[in-house]
Amino acid sequence: MKQYPATLIPGDGIGPEVVEATRRILDATGVAFDWEVTHAGASMFKAGVPSGVPKDTIESIARTRLVLKGPLETPVGFGEKSANVTLRKLFETYGNIRPVKEFPGVTTPFSGRGLDFVVVRENVEDLYAGIEHMQTPGVAQCLKLISRKGCEKIIRLGFELARAEGRRSVHCATKANIMKMTEGLMKRTFEEIAKDYPDLRAEHIIIDNCAHQLAKKPEQFEVIITTNMNGDIISDLGSGLIGGLGFAPSANIGEGIAIFEAVHGSAPKYAGKDVANPTAVLLSGVLMLRHLGEMEAALKVENAVLATLEEGKTVPRDVPGVKEPAGTTAFADAVIANFGKKPSRLEARVSTPLKLPNFSKSPVRVRPKVRRTLGCDIFVEADTSSEVLGRFLEDHASVGGLKLKMISNRGTQVYPSKGAETDCVDQWRCRFLAVDGTLPGPEKLAAFLTEIEKAGWRWMHIEKLEEFDGTAGFTKAQGED
Ligand code: NAP
Repeated sequence: MKQYPATLIPGDGIGPEVVEATRRILDATGVAFDWEVTHAGASMFKAGVPSGVPKDTIESIARTRLVLKGPLETPVGFGEKSANVTLRKLFETYGNIRPVKEFPGVTTPFSGRGLDFVVVRENVEDLYAGIEHMQTPGVAQCLKLISRKGCEKIIRLGFELARAEGRRSVHCATKANIMKMTEGLMKRTFEEIAKDYPDLRAEHIIIDNCAHQLAKKPEQFEVIITTNMNGDIISDLGSGLIGGLGFAPSANIGEGIAIFEAVHGSAPKYAGKDVANPTAVLLSGVLMLRHLGEMEAALKVENAVLATLEEGKTVPRDVPGVKEPAGTTAFADAVIANFGKKPSRLEARVSTPLKLPNFSKSPVRVRPKVRRTLGCDIFVEADTSSEVLGRFLEDHASVGGLKLKMISNRGTQVYPSKGAETDCVDQWRCRFLAVDGTLPGPEKLAAFLTEIEKAGWRWMHIEKLEEFDGTAGFTKAQGED
């Protein structure tokens, strides 16, 4: 019989209880797992492992390529990274699949409407790349990095998932109307790649309207592909529609690797009390069985969970209306006892194996035919007025072969003034165009930066203003012509 080596991370808080319940149920299906138990999270931070993920856990995952994990606590504060994000990034699990499906016996204001959609969330880029800087002591910055390659990977995963599950439509939810470069790249890539999937209806929706539609008419969605932070938020919203975080599973998918975990965290107030709902991790285990192609076992577990919830005799405390809630262990026992049963309605969805697209590991360079550097934005920390700064920069920019186009503060043009009542802070984005049409070399720029520093101000960073094939690679400030 085939045996699957798998890394098992019990996690923090309620993690060990809900993961153990899941392990018992998976083992009871007869599918043979060879579990390697390793640790990450709070205990590892306490033991002095700065990432929260020790070497033996990394080695185990690199070997098994298959992980069932409990939630990991994230320390709040400077210097420490989330161990969850570390795992996702270390193994490049670029796709986070979060199904949202109505449960029989779990009554919510949406019951009876047949909610059944999946959020396909980009999992490693966006603001969660965690590249943050204090630009001045009073102004913080987080880089929102979105790549064409990252977009293509998550979009193809979303379309392939839709096909594997026999869906008919796919939405892409972005904030492309405001963030035209970053979120816009996701939208543009979606519209391009949708052409390869003519059997599926592809539609773009603005993320805030998506949230509104999810609260109003969630049954209209089947698959929602979205960027990292949008996906984080709308998938929690989705779990709220079907009973709460105790019911929301997820799969982190990479190339030849997958990490299965609940959407929820360590719920510390319930830790060690045998009261947490294991359904979310349990259904993550179902996703794991499907990932392995063990479709029959996956269907058996999912239908047993649904039948147990529908019966309502032995169900956890977060099932609305439950009078005598069952503990984590008792619920897991009831699910095993219900193997072979199906709910009378809302059965598990039958799916075929997901065909994961193959992507080259080599760095992708997107090469335009023509590229021009028109100038640069220099970000300056200065405790002065826009007028004083503006006049100084106009007088000295020629040292750098530049001429000042405008200055913005918090995204709005303040010099030359257009009358905006901007509440200015000490971080100024100063936009320069090259005098002779090309950005001068670093020596000239350095001379200009020295002038700025001699005036008693500080420069923080420089962004080039690029044009690719005639299209500007930068946005204008509010009010900029
Ligand atoms: P949380 O642990 O998800 O808990 C929030 C609330 O959700 C709980 O108070 C409880 O609601 C409900 N809940 C969550 N899981 C449940 C379950 N299995 N059964 C029943 N109810 C459940 O969120 P948090 O309190 O914001 O985060 C705690 C820690 O977990 C933080 O350190 C956070 O960083 C971490 N975290 C880790 C992950 C991960 O490992 N992937 C994900 C999210 C958060 P009621 O109070 O209404 O009963």
